[in-house]
Amino acid sequence: MITPLILGNWKMNTTAATAAALAREVAQGAPANGVSLGVCPPLVYLPIVAEACRGSRVAVGAQNVAYEKNGAFTGEVSAAMLKDVGATYVLLGHSERRHTIDPHEDDRVINRKLLAVLAEKLVPVLCVGETLAEREAGRTMDVITTQMKQGLAGVKIAAANELVIAYEPVWAIGTGKVATPAQAQEAHAHTRSLLRAQFGELAKGIAILYGGSMKPDNAREICSQPDVNGGLIGGASLKSADFLAIAKAALEATR
Ligand code: PEP
Repeated sequence: MITPLILGNWKMNTTAATAAALAREVAQGAPANGVSLGVCPPLVYLPIVAEACRGSRVAVGAQNVAYEKNGAFTGEVSAAMLKDVGATYVLLGHSERRHTIDPHEDDRVINRKLLAVLAEKLVPVLCVGETLAEREAGRTMDVITTQMKQGLAGVKIAAANELVIAYEPVWAIGTGKVATPAQAQEAHAHTRSLLRAQFGELAKGIAILYGGSMKPDNAREICSQPDVNGGLIGGASLKSADFLAIAKAALEATR
């Protein structure tokens, strides 16, 4: 049985003061057990948020990383630097990066970043998912297969908790349109089968999160699906009450 994981992706939101306050509220309200929590603030606030979460059950993650270790890479931040300031998780291949921010953020680049994250013993959260056009063309499982195989090329893990996958249908992110529980389960089961092909028995214990307009009122049903092990939450992670309500729903769904 996988302990559900609820990760908040704050994207490019908050200020130093509101980030610290939000982190404190989440840390104070986190359930004592049965669900793992993490928040991914804007990079510049990561140390402040790590301090606010210190001693709590809430881990901290980054939203991006460089694949190089150090050197002349202006504006970049390495996995070792993220670790140095308290990160545990690193989001990789988020659809906003793949499709909107950086046309160079392809599967090859994501794979290099993922290997760099693993080398520092941080936990990569590999985001995969299809666009609306890809779903309508019946290509959802093919897209997931390509993103998983290329993103995880050459990856070896010794334990299931060294890797997290997030299935995030692009058409559901920030749109209020949520995948049906059956659509989520179908994609997650396919993702699990790809993990099994690569990692064998360990695949049973690798958390596969659903992301895309998860809210307090739909979290329980989605998290009840057998291959859904929690959520990657965007908009609803910016309100502590909503984020904590999703965590509670995920906990109840797996009881
Ligand atoms: C996300 O950005 O990963 C996400 C799932 O966003 P939202 O919950 O707002 O759809």
